[in-house]
Amino acid sequence: MRELLNLTLCELEEWMRANDQPRFRAKQLYSWVISGTPFEEMHNLPKALRERLAEEWVVNPVEIREAYRSRLDETEKYLYKLPDGNLIEGVLMRYHHGDTLCLSTQVGCRMGCRFCASTLEGCVRNLTPGEMLGQIVAVNRRLREADRRVHNVVLMGSGEPLDNYENTVRFLRLLNAPEGLNLSLRNVSLSTCGLVPRMLQFAKEGLAVTLSISLHAPNDEVRKRLMPVANAYPIREVVAALRNYVEKTGRRVIVEYALVKGVNCAPGQADELAALLKGLICHVNLIPLNAVAERDLCPPDRREVEAFQHRLEHRGLSATIRREMGADIQGACGQLRRSVLQAESHA
Ligand code: SAH
Repeated sequence: MRELLNLTLCELEEWMRANDQPRFRAKQLYSWVISGTPFEEMHNLPKALRERLAEEWVVNPVEIREAYRSRLDETEKYLYKLPDGNLIEGVLMRYHHGDTLCLSTQVGCRMGCRFCASTLEGCVRNLTPGEMLGQIVAVNRRLREADRRVHNVVLMGSGEPLDNYENTVRFLRLLNAPEGLNLSLRNVSLSTCGLVPRMLQFAKEGLAVTLSISLHAPNDEVRKRLMPVANAYPIREVVAALRNYVEKTGRRVIVEYALVKGVNCAPGQADELAALLKGLICHVNLIPLNAVAERDLCPPDRREVEAFQHRLEHRGLSATIRREMGADIQGACGQLRRSVLQAESHA
């Protein structure tokens, strides 16, 4: 089956033409598709056309299989099912600036970061642009009753977006299309572990998204302990690629720094980080590590986290500590899918 959500309006118009349908049908269909409406409810389309479409196409390949709501805050976590049976996950966070959905870009991940649950079994496959868009469409449909919708999108779920480059770029263009979801790319953050050549390429796409870098270390030695990708690209090149992004897009970048006890949060390391980022227009997001059962890394205590933040600020960086959300529903990357897969394999 092919995915209608993979198509632009222009491509739908071509399909209508090739199938002897009037052109205006494309617009009608498109608005149903981006609201995730099933074929049988598309009542302004002739039945014959709907049946013809249903033979060949799916509206939304992404189905919410489970939804968990945090009792601590209003965070929701979703387990989605894809047509081939693969499972991915997502988190919806309610912020004062709007509902923010965290999207996955791959089933699993092959980057191998030592602290991350998404990568434990490698990458199963890339998601299609329609499967990325479909996560938003499915959640919007769920939120509609409450008169809410996804306002911000962060590509921070499972997967490395720049390792699925073409599909991610196409997804961003579809997301931004005026006749589609029409979401401003200013409301989108793309997070990468630092694939330097792809970061340089991405800066030229003319997509004004916020770029986040998972830096997690002040130097190569520490970074290599946490992230295998550091063996491929030295940290100085990563930072140079960030400077290039700021220059090309005029957008401030976000530096993500997961604090790992005994590894990357000593006072001297805050100084080293400040020196590394000197002059870069950025904001540092400090994330006390979310301990993953399969990994023997843990977060520092609160005092150490705050001391690290103050030290960065003292050196002129803007830095905040990320508030933990959905702690009771396995809010962190890859944890939910993994626990469901394990429960199923033990059943
Ligand atoms: N592959 C992309 C996006 C997915 S991960 C990237 O690497 O940026 C989203 C963020 O969560 C990254 O900053 C990642 O390093 C971080 N992360 C993953 N597991 C974590 C954990 N156990 N605790 C804290 N942050 C984690």
